[in-house]
Amino acid sequence: MTEPNRIIQLDENTIGHIAAGEVVERPAQVVKELVENSIDAGARIITVDVERGGFDLMRILDDGSGIHEEDLPLSLDRHATSKLRSQEDLASIGTLGFRGEALASIGMVSKLTISSRPPGSEGRQIIMDNGNKGNIEPAGIAEGTCIEVAHIFTNQPARLSFQRRPATETSQIVDVVVSHAISHPEVGFRLTSDDKVILEVPAVEEMEDRLYDILGRQAGRMIEISSPPSDDAAPGEENWKGWISTPDITRGKGDDIHILINGRPVASQPFLQSIRRGYRTRLMQGRHPVAVLILELPADEVDVNVHPTKREVRLRHSWRVLERLERAIAYTLESTPTEPESSGGITGITSLASQPVEKRSVEKPAWAQMAQVSLTGDKPIEIKQTEKPRPVSVAESSQTTITGKEAIAPALSSSERELHRHAGFDAEDPESSEPLGPVINNLPAMEPLAQFADSYILVQADEELLLIDQHALHERVRYERLRHDESLWQAQKRISSVPLELDARQIARLEARIEDLTSMGFIIESSTEGYSISSAPALLSASELEPFVHDILLDMSEDGAPLETVEQRKDHLAFLNACRGAVKANERLNLPQMRRLLDDMRRIPNPWACVHGRPTAMRIPLNALDHHFGRHG
Ligand code: ADP
Ligand code: MG
Repeated sequence: MTEPNRIIQLDENTIGHIAAGEVVERPAQVVKELVENSIDAGARIITVDVERGGFDLMRILDDGSGIHEEDLPLSLDRHATSKLRSQEDLASIGTLGFRGEALASIGMVSKLTISSRPPGSEGRQIIMDNGNKGNIEPAGIAEGTCIEVAHIFTNQPARLSFQRRPATETSQIVDVVVSHAISHPEVGFRLTSDDKVILEVPAVEEMEDRLYDILGRQAGRMIEISSPPSDDAAPGEENWKGWISTPDITRGKGDDIHILINGRPVASQPFLQSIRRGYRTRLMQGRHPVAVLILELPADEVDVNVHPTKREVRLRHSWRVLERLERAIAYTLESTPTEPESSGGITGITSLASQPVEKRSVEKPAWAQMAQVSLTGDKPIEIKQTEKPRPVSVAESSQTTITGKEAIAPALSSSERELHRHAGFDAEDPESSEPLGPVINNLPAMEPLAQFADSYILVQADEELLLIDQHALHERVRYERLRHDESLWQAQKRISSVPLELDARQIARLEARIEDLTSMGFIIESSTEGYSISSAPALLSASELEPFVHDILLDMSEDGAPLETVEQRKDHLAFLNACRGAVKANERLNLPQMRRLLDDMRRIPNPWACVHGRPTAMRIPLNALDHHFGRHG
């Protein structure tokens, strides 16, 4: 038996380090806390400068109220705040901060310099260097506050080793600034990263103007939400306002859904499901809309004191609030004009007379006509919801006579739809492509017997009957070919450059990761007209470029996305493209096409699985058939 370890009270310094671990996980979180402080101080303009993803330096400058000279040392103490006086105040918090922990925590893990000058006073500064507080010194500074955080985590090697790459951190910082810029249109923001201006939005009066500055032209296609009249009488004082995108503008992640609760940006995750439900069947699997949704409700119905970084809040009537949101979205989409020519434009911010002409140009809500729209926004994918009989197989001799008959695909399964979110492109003819390398697996020579349901190939392979999923196989074959054909990956100069519509956040990511894109074969140019792609990997067609770059920019916002190395990026591109050009289910193939697919099947490493890991074939051995029909013994 060992003696129990005795309990001691930790010293303040240790407690501070433990607390710092929660509040300051990464540079982007520091930026968030400091921007919130500036907003709380009533700043009209906030400038954020970061160097090397914030790891070298983060500087936040504001023109807010400043900090009283005598309070400077106190601002660095834990649980010291000007925003709360007593426990009662916790029930009705009107500021973004209130815990009094941020500056103290940041000062534990960096060299923190606070310079401040309240109106009519002298400038003063104080430094806290990895937990050591200095003295108050005079400082030359304009009215307001400047906070500098240098060399964060250099004294915390363990924490440093868990940090993301600077470029990733920069995108996170952009996200932080964007979400605050969206919640506070009355404040101007300027963000620079390594001396490059990444975001600059002036203070404006109307939220609509801010959205234009952040989302670019896409804002013109956002619809203002309204609640069904029946909700007026529903119990509860909560109220949703905001804008949602038409279903043709979507993102691969929910990152462009901004939720503000009483002016505080919060994590969108708890709201995503209700939002998707509000869209009914209009969104493709795995896609999310762009949305800015603003919830106003009495302060005592929301508890902001549940999370150290305040990204999460608790709502007293969360269920009711979510249902209201879903109803509002559904109602808004239903009452938006469905005929493109039937109205002068969609309701909402397109009607803003104050916008410059080019911002006001209203795109037709063509989406409204179709159930589903491909990523490029111009090629509808036929998804019939009505029951349609599966095609009936016919003998190969008569197959060739059926010409000119439009194939209408019946409903795809939802997982199929996800796989095909990039689809809408013509399938490649299996016979037209370059031959693969030598036979490398031990499949025998195979002979196609027939096609079943225009989806499966019946194949004789020695003593086995194979049922092959033509799409899965072709996808796999294409993947191998795309992956190993270097010429497809080389940058190809486009005859005319392809315009790229980007919002502020995408631009920021693009600017931060431009080298990565170049290494993938994309050359993106900016001019007064905006951004355009002048060069891209040969395998991407013009119409694929914009959606592709959008998705890559999204992936780049996180580490661990399948884009870490060039090799993985190529893999990812091959993966997506393999699916795009592959023959679909319900597509008639002739015998030579089937033969070619089967021949290719012998030249790929793992012929039994498609790129998504699903099986390509079902095997029925002859003796299993014999057994079934009682031919044994
Ligand atoms: P909190 O924001 O929860 O009060 P912080 O540690 O973030 O805690 O800040 C401590 C205090 O320092 C704030 O309550 C505020 O009085 C003061 N302060 C911090 N940043 C600023 C700023 N940019 N302008 C004015 N006062 C500030
Ligand atoms: Mg704070």
